[in-house]
Amino acid sequence: MGTPTVTFIAGNWKMHTDRDEAKSLATSLGEQLQSEGSSPADRSSRVEVGLFPPYPFLCDVGEIAERFGFRLGAQDMYFEPVGAFTGEVSGAMLASTGCRYVILGHSERRHVLGETDEIVARKVRAALASGLAPVICVGETIEQREAGNTEDVLRTQIESAVDGLSENDFEKVTVAYEPVWAIGTGHTATPDQASDAHAFLRTRLADRFGADAASACRILYGGSVKPDNAKTLLAQDEIQGALVGGASLQAASFADIVRAALAVHTS
Ligand code: PEP
Repeated sequence: MGTPTVTFIAGNWKMHTDRDEAKSLATSLGEQLQSEGSSPADRSSRVEVGLFPPYPFLCDVGEIAERFGFRLGAQDMYFEPVGAFTGEVSGAMLASTGCRYVILGHSERRHVLGETDEIVARKVRAALASGLAPVICVGETIEQREAGNTEDVLRTQIESAVDGLSENDFEKVTVAYEPVWAIGTGHTATPDQASDAHAFLRTRLADRFGADAASACRILYGGSVKPDNAKTLLAQDEIQGALVGGASLQAASFADIVRAALAVHTS
């Protein structure tokens, strides 16, 4: 185990696009990155690009993703493997569409749809049991930050999410630090704020899984990442990638963020 070397740039499309738009967004991104001459294999050895479209478009986008060397992921899943859970989607279903990743505990799930730490933890275990790699989102609200509770919130969320995981399981985990006040607001955490939160999370993970395993875990930053701030954020030692919402909905801006990651990686 060592320092993570492949930056992860993940595009969370949320509840946006229709089927045609989803296909053309993925295709346009692939074509824009391809036109620069680096092969998907060369790019992927430095920067892994993940697309997280809405469920109905996973198969379509998955075919395009495969063509351009992108990874496919889902935005959520249910913790039960099968049964009478109308409207829910299992980890095995997602894996069968070609998903490698699943976002869990996104702030919109926690704060708009009422997901608790316990639900997130159950989903993390179910994802791993289905062969999916969880991208576990944690982050404080502005009230929690202003009250000086950021570290308490992050500690509670991360410790609960990885509770009961084996070291083997933990190797498959990606963490995303997403301050709620920065998501979709245009307010980005400063590089120092993000680095401090990442370092704090990594220390908690080291307490639980050991320093080597914690240093090999990718911790992404999410919260209004745009082409103009991506390079500065990604240049921080503590930041190994970005979870991107709004700017992933335009192929040009998402491609620019991938380019920023490639530039940081080679500089
Ligand atoms: C997100 O959806 O995880 C996110 C960070 O959104 P945005 O980039 O729009 O802030």
